[in-house]
Amino acid sequence: MTAVTTATPIFEAKNIVMDFTVQKSGGMFAGTKTLRALNDVSFQMFPGESLAVVGESGCGKSTLCRIAMRVHEPTGGRMTYAGKDVHNFASKQDYRNYREKVQMIFQDPFSSLNPLHSIEYTLSRPLKLYHGMKNKQELDAKINEIMETVGLIPAVEQKKKYPHQLSGGQKQRAFIGKVLAIGADVIFADEPTSMLDVSIRLGVLNLMNKMKFENKKSFLYITHDIATARYFSERIIVLYCGHMVEWGDVNKVVKEPAHPYTQLLISAAPDPERDRLVELKEKGRSEIQQWTPESKGCPFAPRCLRATQLCYEQMPEAVEVDPGRFVRCNHL
Ligand code: SF4
Repeated sequence: MTAVTTATPIFEAKNIVMDFTVQKSGGMFAGTKTLRALNDVSFQMFPGESLAVVGESGCGKSTLCRIAMRVHEPTGGRMTYAGKDVHNFASKQDYRNYREKVQMIFQDPFSSLNPLHSIEYTLSRPLKLYHGMKNKQELDAKINEIMETVGLIPAVEQKKKYPHQLSGGQKQRAFIGKVLAIGADVIFADEPTSMLDVSIRLGVLNLMNKMKFENKKSFLYITHDIATARYFSERIIVLYCGHMVEWGDVNKVVKEPAHPYTQLLISAAPDPERDRLVELKEKGRSEIQQWTPESKGCPFAPRCLRATQLCYEQMPEAVEVDPGRFVRCNHL
């Protein structure tokens, strides 16, 4: 799968830092501490391309989505859409445009649709609100077209249904239909297939692939499944404890992982074609470590078999191992 990059990114994150203040363990008088959920995260998104973000639970993947959706304002760095600062729009029109053009697909299709509204109503609202469609015939034709695009057929019958009458996969397709009706350019898909049966995951991924290639949508695909990341995306970021540890072309990163954490992730994914299982066992604890603004060294050091004293003292620099592919490790 070749990258379809253009020179101008449609969405960009630069040096994003996100700190949260949390209660220390030990009761309400123990005070608070600052945890760093994201540290210096940067990426670019291009039309017609998917960027996968992989990592285990708690590594900051969903925090990234919430910052893009303006749920959180980043502690440092900035995100831009079409060159405009996402957290500091100059006008209401810019903000409204952002709300229209940047959308999310959620993990849970069971709660992302309003149970009181039929699919027809759910699709008609954005068409009326964002595109001013009032004419009944025009609306019907557009809804039927969207239903067919997302594979909910026969459209005339399926659009009359309510969410409880659809399967999990059909609900996710209906929600993707809503994103299409709104007319989003940039889509943050937060584990969109993880709650679906394995047999219907591929159908949803293929639908998103179609949107990417035919409609030039740009996806940020968040997942812990490196196999689907490779199937659906052109580029990948491996996130560990809020740090980008390896990033670049998805095929190169998956075939020849350079960072010990990427190697660990890939060795845990079942792959019948892999001729050699990467034998990288973890040492110490397997939970993700808590990172604070004062922490130093490599965040993966407590779990890394290659760690040396240097790794506990010095944050590794990003090294370009191939054109456009970077790894942060002191001992490549
Ligand atoms: Fe392991 Fe050190 Fe590389 Fe971190 S910098 S991944 S601890 S070898």
